[in-house]
Amino acid sequence: MNAAETWLNTIPALAREELGMEIAENRLGGSILEEKPRLINALMERYCTLQCKHCLLPEHHSTSKISRESRLDNILANLVGQLPEKSSFLHEGRIVLPWHIQLLKKLKSETPNVLFGLIDNGTYTRIIKSFRNYQLDWLDISCDGIRENHNAQRDPNGKSYDQMMNGLLHARDVTKPPEQGGRVTSLMTITTLNHKDIKRVADDLFKQNTNHPALDYIDELHITTMSPKQPINYSIDLESGHMATVFESVKELQDAGLIVYLRLYNTKHLGLLARHIGYKTFQKSLEHAKSYSHGIIELELEGVQLYYMPSSIWPSEGIFIDANASQRVAYAQVHTLEQLNDPAYAKYTVQQLKEDSGLEDAHRKNVSQWRKHFMKDFLEQETAVLREVYAG
Ligand code: SF4
Repeated sequence: MNAAETWLNTIPALAREELGMEIAENRLGGSILEEKPRLINALMERYCTLQCKHCLLPEHHSTSKISRESRLDNILANLVGQLPEKSSFLHEGRIVLPWHIQLLKKLKSETPNVLFGLIDNGTYTRIIKSFRNYQLDWLDISCDGIRENHNAQRDPNGKSYDQMMNGLLHARDVTKPPEQGGRVTSLMTITTLNHKDIKRVADDLFKQNTNHPALDYIDELHITTMSPKQPINYSIDLESGHMATVFESVKELQDAGLIVYLRLYNTKHLGLLARHIGYKTFQKSLEHAKSYSHGIIELELEGVQLYYMPSSIWPSEGIFIDANASQRVAYAQVHTLEQLNDPAYAKYTVQQLKEDSGLEDAHRKNVSQWRKHFMKDFLEQETAVLREVYAG
């Protein structure tokens, strides 16, 4: 049984007090240990050209020198080489540098069966020549609203929207063609600033790409909500009315046949949606929910497909590697490298990786660290939301 299935069989029962926390922890712990990683995501540079209001990370100096000194390139090559077929490697930011592209080319030639993806804010175009003879399997360029709201959320200087659109304009030049599985997507992080913009963003991005007239700018729009972790995030976190708007917008777009995914990591927002559609309806959707591997639960709410990734089972998602080649837990990005070097922050680091580290060993250590320091808190948050749902 995968971890998501175990979650579905366990956490609603925990919320209904049919079993205790210790049993739930043991069941989930066993399942996440069994589920071998198929994703490595790397934070290959901690400096960013922007400091968005919804960003999980604080401002940071460049970590390129630290990455080179810690042999991040060899460490990634070693671990990616141990991934099973049909796995993925994700460059999750913050910005992409020419040496990253050289490394991605090398990784692809050594492990052709792994899919390679990049999340970017559109500024990759400044190094587009580095992509010569290299095509990504997947490129995501985040769009956070219509011009005014995207810039309000991302960039007081007002340049970010144009950079994002320029990134989308050229995205097909650096990704495989769709018939070979290449995808261009856009992630929209919803906050109080942009929650009304979802339909306008879909109108703007599911539109013919003028550089590639047979194709739209994007193949998929991914809608998610922010998990507030930095003081700058707090004032723009969503409340009940905002979630209702998000839900109705996604419903309209999915009904129109557009590929729009609603992905929730934040359990509070799942609870707000449950309140919006009604607790009884939500209970039924939980009974019929589907589980996928690697921590994904699919719910259908009034015809809307929603993917929920409970944080309690986060290690089933994959292995997260920081810019200094440390293996870290989810949300460690909230802290700077200097903070994470302090023993007081030790719980965020799983291990300092070496050039011969084992992937299975890394997974075992990940699960153990998560269980020891984080799983119970997330389980309590998830159970509290479901308790409200069952109390009606
Ligand atoms: S959200 Fe992305 S583009 Fe914005 S500051 Fe964070 S890493 Fe940079």
